[in-house]
Amino acid sequence: MNLSAQLHETAKALPQKTAYFFNDEASTYAELDGAITKFASGLEALGVKKGDHIALLLGNSPYFVVSLYGALRLGATVIPVNPIYTPDEIGYIIKNGDVKTVVALDLLLPLAEKMHHLLPEVENYIICDTPQGKERGLNNSNLSVGDKLHTFTSILASGDLSYQGPELNEDDVAVILYTSGTTGKPKGAMLTHKNLYSNAKDTGDYLKMNEDDRIITTLPMFHVFCLTVALNAPLLSGATILIDPKFSPAEIFRLSKKYEPTVFAGVPTMYNFLYQYEAGDPKDLQSLRLCISGGASMPVSLLENFERKFNVLISEGYGLSEASPVTCFNPLDRPRKAGSIGQSIVHVENKVVNELGEEVPIGQVGELIVSGPNVMKGYYKMPEETQAAIRNGWLYTGDLARKDEEGYFYIVDRKKDLILVGGYNVYPREVEEVLYSHPDIIEVAVLGVPDPEQGEMVKSYVVTKNSELTEEDVLDYCRERLAKYKIPSSVDFLEELPKNTTGKILRRALKQQIIQA
Ligand code: AMP
Repeated sequence: MNLSAQLHETAKALPQKTAYFFNDEASTYAELDGAITKFASGLEALGVKKGDHIALLLGNSPYFVVSLYGALRLGATVIPVNPIYTPDEIGYIIKNGDVKTVVALDLLLPLAEKMHHLLPEVENYIICDTPQGKERGLNNSNLSVGDKLHTFTSILASGDLSYQGPELNEDDVAVILYTSGTTGKPKGAMLTHKNLYSNAKDTGDYLKMNEDDRIITTLPMFHVFCLTVALNAPLLSGATILIDPKFSPAEIFRLSKKYEPTVFAGVPTMYNFLYQYEAGDPKDLQSLRLCISGGASMPVSLLENFERKFNVLISEGYGLSEASPVTCFNPLDRPRKAGSIGQSIVHVENKVVNELGEEVPIGQVGELIVSGPNVMKGYYKMPEETQAAIRNGWLYTGDLARKDEEGYFYIVDRKKDLILVGGYNVYPREVEEVLYSHPDIIEVAVLGVPDPEQGEMVKSYVVTKNSELTEEDVLDYCRERLAKYKIPSSVDFLEELPKNTTGKILRRALKQQIIQA
């Protein structure tokens, strides 16, 4: 139950198989495994030990893959961090996560210099060279952090190919993922080797990933969706990943034309961009056997339009950081139901419960709870938050859902995004689905704002491709399709909606912007 050990086995069985393409250069499983082994051994030579915490401030690149699997082989705990976080956000994670070693791009050298003064407990900075860093003349001369700096290349060079690594326990913490949670500071979800391995294996098997697959890895690797679905699961299956550092429709079409991928994994906004991209020739995506959607609800109209235009199946799944992340997916050998997150994957159980934790009848809405080998060990150094999240062996997701008679689950909305209008429940997602089905609307966010008479009222924010579309047009469209209390009180037209780095639309950030304006 160890991802890195399993990759070593794959490299023995399929040494010449291409593990990844990056910047149009290929690397075999044997080469990748060699780099991982040397990196693990080089880390050990630096004094890094089993159980130490290593933060990765890296975008999608071979640096990320080698550092992750190298640290895991040594038994260290990896903390992937979004490299574009502010210094304060990064500093919080490094301090809270007791990080001793940071692996970062040379572009972050100025940040390392700053952090060195604020966070003296960090012992090593391992810096990865980039062409942009070289161009900007970034190097370690004149930096006071100098004696803590090492280059990625020097760590690899000091490594030993015969390195074996210590014995690891399946319950050892492999990765800590900081998630923003509902309130307060981010919490570190501790995922064990067993959590990560089992979820990658079970998801890969469920989606029939195999050696012949080529998967576009464009979601950010520091996010759990990419980590398990577009990195660990393909590598466990002996597939080839196409590492893409930054999503753009043009690059996805280019990669597809050149490498004929079989699987694409993305969040709904990525599908929307690909669908709207007029320069893209649908023929270029014809090698795809499967598109995977997750991270946020996939509007049914977009799913159907995309499938029709590109003649490919989209399987929507669901997960969260605390569950490593996958709990449900639409099956490939049984009907795919639009609007559903599918059925429980093998070894994982999903249940819809009421406030007392009792299962509700089929069709009724309640909170989705999850149990299985994928559920985290707990939040790092936060026993109270852990007890609130995991009760009687079940992880409480904070998402409202219902189940149908065939065991397919439907996410209704986040519990905390529910809007209460004069005592009626309005699920923003339901209103968003209607707005998404309007042919001129590209993106949507619906949220509740305080209203002195009804408690809350529904507001909608849309991005349109038709500059002549009016508020009244949109409201008329809603009036034909929604009960009166669900109809937005206003429609605001925006240039774009706030999104996180995975591309999820951030309703709460939008609300914040509106309150501050
Ligand atoms: P994260 O921990 O960042 O992966 O975020 C997990 C959250 O994303 C879940 O709790 C859900 O609210 C949301 N989510 C993930 N997949 C879906 C989906 N298919 N439909 C609706 N919401 C989703």
